Amino acid sequence: MLGQMMNYPLTIGSLVDHAARYHAGTEIVSVNTSGDVEMTDWGRVGANSHQLGDALSKLGLDPQARCATIAWNNRRHLEIYFGVSGAGFVCHTINPRLFPEQLIYIINHAEDRVLFIDRTFVPLVKAIRDKIPGVAHIVLMEGRDDTLAAEIDGLQFYDELIATGAPTFDWPDFDENTASSLCYTSGTTGNPKGVLYSHRSTVLHAFASNTRDCIGYSARDVVLPVVPMFHVNAWGTPYACAQVGARMVLPGPGLDGPSLVRLIDTYRVNIALGVPTIWLGLLGEAKASGSDLASLERTVVGGSACPPSMITAFREQYGVELIHAWGMTEMSPLGTSNQPLAKHTDLPIADQHALRENQGRAPWGVELEIIDDAGQALPHDGEAQGALMVRGHWILDSYFQKTTDETLTNGWFDTGDVATIDADGYLSIKDRSKDIIKSGGEWISSVDLENIAIAHPALADAAVIGAQHEKWDERPVLIAVAAEGQSPTQEEVLSIFDGKIAKWQVPDMVVFTDALPRNATGKVLKRNLRDDFGQVLLG
Ligand code: AMP
Repeated sequence: MLGQMMNYPLTIGSLVDHAARYHAGTEIVSVNTSGDVEMTDWGRVGANSHQLGDALSKLGLDPQARCATIAWNNRRHLEIYFGVSGAGFVCHTINPRLFPEQLIYIINHAEDRVLFIDRTFVPLVKAIRDKIPGVAHIVLMEGRDDTLAAEIDGLQFYDELIATGAPTFDWPDFDENTASSLCYTSGTTGNPKGVLYSHRSTVLHAFASNTRDCIGYSARDVVLPVVPMFHVNAWGTPYACAQVGARMVLPGPGLDGPSLVRLIDTYRVNIALGVPTIWLGLLGEAKASGSDLASLERTVVGGSACPPSMITAFREQYGVELIHAWGMTEMSPLGTSNQPLAKHTDLPIADQHALRENQGRAPWGVELEIIDDAGQALPHDGEAQGALMVRGHWILDSYFQKTTDETLTNGWFDTGDVATIDADGYLSIKDRSKDIIKSGGEWISSVDLENIAIAHPALADAAVIGAQHEKWDERPVLIAVAAEGQSPTQEEVLSIFDGKIAKWQVPDMVVFTDALPRNATGKVLKRNLRDDFGQVLLG
């Protein structure tokens, strides 16, 4: 025998066990659905998740049974993340902002057996109860409430359920490739598709998140995941925080600027994560309230392109480093994050700032490639734009209940994004392939135009679409939402592009509207905008 290392599987249960063993007293702040703040710690979260795992096992569920959640970021949701997966079941987080028909589709497609819900969602679930017959247990994430018990037949209560389990329950042994959790893509067309993560992919993703050039949480951090736990597992934050025993602040339902500023200032949050629209609210409130966000050191922004003006605002007004990250549900979600290289240290400060604007570099575990229409690899020169392909340890092989053949091209997953990659591996997302504007054989990035437009002080929101054009096929049209109390003219808005891009890329027209249509994860529905405004340039 040559002798070798232990074969110790990479499992989600081991993450919470580590946190409970070595960081038992580290606080978890949880805002309940009622708005009350509850303090717990990793020790209790660990014990409760074991109790829950035991209680679920006693329900006689099959291994890998799907246990779904429709819930905010709170401590019971955290316990469910670990208790369900740890016990060998699959934690299926559902986005409550989906239409009822999509919820019904997803719950039935996933074959969910248990459904954990927060109080907010009782009316929603009550309305669809008879359309989800496969769900055997609906569990309200609270103690007993007799008024609510009358609302849904057979409603169970989380605190009573876990009381039937023991904190000494041992996680069962299983292979690290066993499925652990399930998320559906938000899908702007067609039915949502399921992405099934494994224990191994989740733990490796947590490791990568915890490297210094990615996010790099530590036991000294206070982490506020504003990104919902129903959006790609809050970008893996619960797993990565458990792995290092970081303190967590779970914001519950209040994701508005005032609630977030209060949480950051009260609990000395130093790392916060979320999509760009959330930070618009936060920056607005910080300015209005006079808070200097003193404790905040880093914000991680992704989910859609982060406008450079937001990076500047965080840096210059609050001394906060903004880390621009890119990823997708099919990638668990982390694909890249923007951190500088050693050689950037001596660059002029303006150049260093400009380098922070793109989506950044891939960590170990993710490979990126760009290809042309013929499938040929394009140079990594920061100029060539192509379809962005990915592969790696935490990237989708096949959608839930589909085969790899239907999903991958030569072993690579097509992200649906169009991007450039430079010689140092920095990724710049130009567009979704279906949103890029094809003007007379040239491509114009709607994201580049939006990044410039959103910095206009008279605008609150902006999106750019390719509108049909008789001569050029498509031309950019800016759909703009004026800031409160402002009514800028088309010329005033378009002047912001002067000197920033080539003249032929400047939008042909500005259309003002009251609000941009967004999907359940906050992404602008460009298809709806094209339906409404795609013909404004035709005679
Ligand atoms: P989802 O799976 O709903 O998280 O959506 C993933 C898609 O969001 C990606 O394919 C990108 O098109 C977009 N996205 C995510 N992060 C960024 C980012 N930092 N910049 C630009 N687009 C992004």
